[in-house]
Amino acid sequence: MQPDYDCVVVGAGLVGAAQALALCQRDLSVLVIEAREPRSGQVGGDVRGLALSFSSRQLIEALGLWSVLSAQIAPIRYIHVSDQGRFGFTHLSADDVGADALGYVCPADYLADATEAALKEQCEVQWQSTLTRIDTGSEYAQIRIEGGAGTVNITTRLVIGADGMHSRVRETMGAAVQQRDYRQSAIVANLALQYPVPETAFERFTPSGPLALLPLSSGRHVAVRCCTDTELERLVGLSDKEYLDELAAGFGYRFGAFSDVGPRRTHKLVLQWADHIVDHRIALVGAAANTIHPNGAQGLNLGLRDAAALAASVGRVRSKGGDIGDLECLSEFATGRRADQRDVIRFTDTMAQVFASKIPLIGPLRDAVMLAADISPTSKRSLIRRATGMHAGTPTAGLQIIG
Ligand SMILES: Cc1cc2nc3c(=O)[nH]c(=O)nc-3n(C[C@H](O)[C@H](O)[C@H](O)COP(=O)(O)OP(=O)(O)OC[C@H]3O[C@@H](n4cnc5c(N)ncnc54)[C@H](O)[C@@H]3O)c2cc1C
Repeated sequence: MQPDYDCVVVGAGLVGAAQALALCQRDLSVLVIEAREPRSGQVGGDVRGLALSFSSRQLIEALGLWSVLSAQIAPIRYIHVSDQGRFGFTHLSADDVGADALGYVCPADYLADATEAALKEQCEVQWQSTLTRIDTGSEYAQIRIEGGAGTVNITTRLVIGADGMHSRVRETMGAAVQQRDYRQSAIVANLALQYPVPETAFERFTPSGPLALLPLSSGRHVAVRCCTDTELERLVGLSDKEYLDELAAGFGYRFGAFSDVGPRRTHKLVLQWADHIVDHRIALVGAAANTIHPNGAQGLNLGLRDAAALAASVGRVRSKGGDIGDLECLSEFATGRRADQRDVIRFTDTMAQVFASKIPLIGPLRDAVMLAADISPTSKRSLIRRATGMHAGTPTAGLQIIG
């Protein structure tokens, strides 16, 4: 029997949208189910600037969206990492690895609008609909969708869970999750600097969590301030001026005064990973599989690599006439993603714990590690590869998983 769709993608967040578009490009029939309403082109809802790695650029280019977004994208050619109140610092430059850029910053709202516009044009989407049940069989999976049209049952060869950290697909497939609550939140806001440093991202570790400044193509910056849960209420209660003064002080006044701040949005920070990401006729990608601390700006990049790898794997199986929902084929995808997912989790979790640690000897050790990374070209290159996601695809080597 022919199922209704080759693939059903649950969730039209950035990863789900990219996943669906990559599958549509391979001529598979795809249905996307999304719980929320479609976006209405409103800018200012998500004020984050998303740092994109070279691998994400490649996927976004392959989806035909990079040129649409190019006016909004700011390259990062330098990254400056420092530890508040201590000697340790590291300067990373694109020249250290012979690249044009270490990454790119795209406003989250623009990226969401561009992927959603492409999704509406190229794929079938059911908005305001939620997946509530999956029954897997030998030939296909039957899924139940609840939405405006009532309850609908649909058949498909493969269900892809791109439904975020509270994934219903993951729950349905019985995957257990491991979680670490960092007891931190991130406060994100757009602002202007008196003395901006172009093409440079700053990350500064402070006792309450990291501070980051990302450049935007408009000349403004996105400031991400991570803080402990106990500090959140006080910080949210500050006036704009008080908040900006504290941020400027946090960066040691190196950028002069901070001004013209937009709305502040808060995000709770946790680490969470699923103990398995595939089952018969089911695969998980993006935050449904792994949710990580944003200190390394790698969550979306990791999720987009999941999407690219799954699309490539499904495309290969399909071209050989195989069953794209077969567990053996999906296990190859899962095995291929394991090292990247494990490395990124380790890197971001280690940074989150080491830089938040109050153990007396950790401070000097951090200084030593950062200075060593600054002095040694080999350590520096290795740090750049980890910090920017280049371990998964460099400008020279290319990204192997996009096929
Ligand atoms: C402060 C902060 C800054 C960050 N900065 C960066 C950065 O610079 N670079 C980077 O790479 N990453 C960054 N990240 C991480 C990045 O935002 C996430 O990894 C990424 O957005 C996850 O996308 P997703 O599509 O997997 O999940 P989500 O964005 O959570 O999307 C899931 C979608 O599924 C839908 N859904 C849920 N349940 C159902 C259901 N049952 N049926 C139908 N639909 C459903 C939801 O409505 C939603 O649209 C940052 C994160 C934070 C918190």
